[in-house]
Amino acid sequence: MLKLFNSLTRKKEIFRPREGKKVKMFVCGPTCYDFSHIGHARTYIVFDMISKYLRERGYDVFYLQNITDVDDKIIDRAIEKKVFWRDLNRKFEKEYLKDMKALNINSVTKYARATEHIKEIISQVKKLLEKGFAYQIPELPKGAKGEDEGNLHRLKDGIYYDISKFKDYGKLSKRTVLQAEDAVSRIDEAKEKRNKGDFCLWKFSKPGEPKWKSPFGWGRPGWHIEDTAITEKYFGAQYDIHGGAKDLIFPHHEAEIAQMEAISGKKPTVKYWLHTGFLTVKGQKMAKSRGNFVTIKDFLKTHPARILRFFVLKTHYRSPIDYSEKEIEQVKRQLERIDEFIDKIKNLKNTKRVKEVNLFSTSAYASVFEEALEDDFNTPKAIAIIFDLVNRGNSLIAQNKLTQADARNILEFLKKIDKVFNFIFWEKPKEKIPGNILKLVKEREKYRQQKKWQKADEIRKRIKEIGYWIKDTKEGPKIKPRSENLTAFGNQNVLFYKTFVKFLLRGKKIILASLKYLFEALHLPCLILPLEKGAFVAFFLFVFDKIDKSLKSYQQFLARNIFLLGQYPIHPFLFLILDF
Ligand SMILES: [Zn+2]
Repeated sequence: MLKLFNSLTRKKEIFRPREGKKVKMFVCGPTCYDFSHIGHARTYIVFDMISKYLRERGYDVFYLQNITDVDDKIIDRAIEKKVFWRDLNRKFEKEYLKDMKALNINSVTKYARATEHIKEIISQVKKLLEKGFAYQIPELPKGAKGEDEGNLHRLKDGIYYDISKFKDYGKLSKRTVLQAEDAVSRIDEAKEKRNKGDFCLWKFSKPGEPKWKSPFGWGRPGWHIEDTAITEKYFGAQYDIHGGAKDLIFPHHEAEIAQMEAISGKKPTVKYWLHTGFLTVKGQKMAKSRGNFVTIKDFLKTHPARILRFFVLKTHYRSPIDYSEKEIEQVKRQLERIDEFIDKIKNLKNTKRVKEVNLFSTSAYASVFEEALEDDFNTPKAIAIIFDLVNRGNSLIAQNKLTQADARNILEFLKKIDKVFNFIFWEKPKEKIPGNILKLVKEREKYRQQKKWQKADEIRKRIKEIGYWIKDTKEGPKIKPRSENLTAFGNQNVLFYKTFVKFLLRGKKIILASLKYLFEALHLPCLILPLEKGAFVAFFLFVFDKIDKSLKSYQQFLARNIFLLGQYPIHPFLFLILDF
């Protein structure tokens, strides 16, 4: 039985859609005037997971999302960039859709642009005027008849919603009309408003601004009215789920309730309100001025998209998430554990029959998994189950107790999970291993079979010089480009490295600062170890490849490589003093 935490009632409630198995879900879409950031990605990944889960459970989900394509932010940015507002908007709409595609967010049934629903918006404003919930600024003197004010037309500001007229105002955000004065955006500013929290439904346009014809005069819609106009068109006055980030609760979602319930007289407009928690970067709110603004596009330049999905889903959707590169590194390692496990079970050769019956069954995992998601989409718990399965599977493989039938069941189960999560079986970009390398690997295998270890080792060295690593596994040699982070190889002995690093540090003066930047800039394999609070020491992993060599050879090695690094752009923050 699916339970959701409803922000409106602040309780977990059993999910019962209004019409049987049909689910109408609306999520606030982007205002397209810039690249979307990872905070946006969080919300959209969460609702993508939710709609996919509901569909897996047999619900017929209509997932609707608006696209705000007329707004102060768009107009201001277009003026700043000296471009036409619509061109700017369409460019970033395209970028947004590109980001969504890259993140495998493909569950939205319909994207609806605000400017393509002006007719519906005008009709809602009209109804609010007729019902007495809206008024025009400046207000006409009593007894004056509409348009006969002549010059007044020139000074018209906009049509506003009178929040004091709506008795339930504040029921979502738990605020009163009197408290409703903050979080007002520029479009909602007008000196002559009846209440400070009144918001704009229709803004009369100034010269040069986008405008549409309406019975009230040329103008453009306010932000909140576009959502209700769009949802009423596709869903009607009442529907099942409204989602969005937590910071949209006030005033945006509160305004949506006030508009729609005043227009239709039916409540509640939305049965379940779901809100995603904040995403901070190293403990701080993301802001361009702080320089901690991470766009989806930038993230995807250095990381595969599945990492972001996993990073988002390993935290409960309502909890805060803190983003840092360290956290992302951990996520990477966790995903690699899953990858390695899948590799193992895919290549499981052992068909040895064991006497124990039902040694391994995925059904227990499946039911715990479902239980977790049914409980307000408890994804961290569901993900923990995947790792339980990996651990148990690995230990059975090590004991030669996992049969191929078990392996098939596990794969099937993971595939089912991944229909919702989309971070396990991600189509990886194919690593193109050049033909000459493959040839060398083959040759080396031949020598290994003939136990000609020295020859085999020589070839391994040659391959390494060209830029590839070889790892010998039960299933045969694995080849990886050397530029890949070596943690991909997984089983390094971290404790050994720590001891080794401590040994290097003892009695020697090593100051390594911003080495992390160097590695990132050079795309070199590295291992970064937290030694003391706040201090990180990084070492080339090739050093450890030659652990039998002395400290002296390490120095030589480093000297040689630093020299070789000359051709790369070295990060300006780097300063490195080595004093052995
Ligand atoms: Zn919205």
